[in-house]
Amino acid sequence: MSFIAIIVAAGQGRRFGAKKQWMLLDGTPVFEYSVTAFKAAGASSIIAVVSQDDLNDAQLRYPDIDFVIGGADRAQSVKNALKAVKANNETLIMIHDAARPLLKPRHIHDLLEALQTHRAAILALPVSDTLKKVDKGVIISTQDRSQLYRAQTPQAFRLGDINAAYAAWPSDTSPTDEASVLEAHCVPVAIVTGDDALHKLTTPADFTYLKALIDQDKTLNKRIFQTRIGQGYDAHRFGPGQSVILCGVEISHDHGLVGHSDADVALHALTDALLGAASLGDIGDHFPPTDPQWRGAPSDIFLKHAQTLITDMGGQIINIDLTLICEQPKIKPHREAMRQNLSKILQLDISRISLKATTTEKMGFTGREEGMAAMAVCLIELPVFA
Ligand code: MG
Repeated sequence: MSFIAIIVAAGQGRRFGAKKQWMLLDGTPVFEYSVTAFKAAGASSIIAVVSQDDLNDAQLRYPDIDFVIGGADRAQSVKNALKAVKANNETLIMIHDAARPLLKPRHIHDLLEALQTHRAAILALPVSDTLKKVDKGVIISTQDRSQLYRAQTPQAFRLGDINAAYAAWPSDTSPTDEASVLEAHCVPVAIVTGDDALHKLTTPADFTYLKALIDQDKTLNKRIFQTRIGQGYDAHRFGPGQSVILCGVEISHDHGLVGHSDADVALHALTDALLGAASLGDIGDHFPPTDPQWRGAPSDIFLKHAQTLITDMGGQIINIDLTLICEQPKIKPHREAMRQNLSKILQLDISRISLKATTTEKMGFTGREEGMAAMAVCLIELPVFA
């Protein structure tokens, strides 16, 4: 949904003692946070209201934003911005106070969603403190808070509605937000759950509070990668056949390898190494040999599956090292073809793929050429959340 954003940044900071919209919060001007959020949420244009003495600097710093000069109070500033909007009456408008910098695209998307079924919507939070009505320092009564909400911004509506509502608003009073103007004009305004992070900067202590929220967010979002190792081993018996498949490459031999799938001992060992590194069980858990659908299956399916599980976790393979153990067939003439095929299956640079071969000096089952074995190790990295 297309919408126009209006950022109100014309405050003189009288209560605060400085113009907080231009102060740095974690190294970024307070104003800029809202600009970034609106751009990320797809605002078709952004209009910002600033005071006359800030106009030149603001225009230089933010050349892609339209600026208008603020009025005597917030409502007049908003009206000045609305006058600058050239669009039809159904155009969606969001008005936001620059003093609520921790705006996120998700807040904007929540409002846009509400505007599909409502004429207007604002972010607001239920009041959690008990409310007292007080006269001369003494409580008169306790208020029912069940229907009370704290209004935040952005506030969102149709251009025609807000213009008509402001036109009808009495000139001797000044509204503190746009929702009040719409309410007075009988436009229903829906409540969308707001966010404590949209806390308004009013006092210096608020800066400390918002900075703490930013730090907390950074910690939560910081992805630290942990390097994990995995190993795999597999063996298959030789049986009738004229070729074996190793790393997906068919190699002529006087025997084949016996197995439920294509018996690619190398890919099976490697698949187990990947699953092991991610603590995801073994190849038999994912592809039970009792399942007829894997009969004769090409084993690159298993390998690709293990890799996909790792990438779905936000991880990646760093390198792999395979050792094939057999007297026959001779591996070396096929080694580069196998590495290249692994590189193709895993979309991994060939420099990260090592393949070696050894015999067991005629000892044991591989020495007697009853079958062959493969060993694999791999390193992967997985994100952990600190
Ligand atoms: Mg196997």
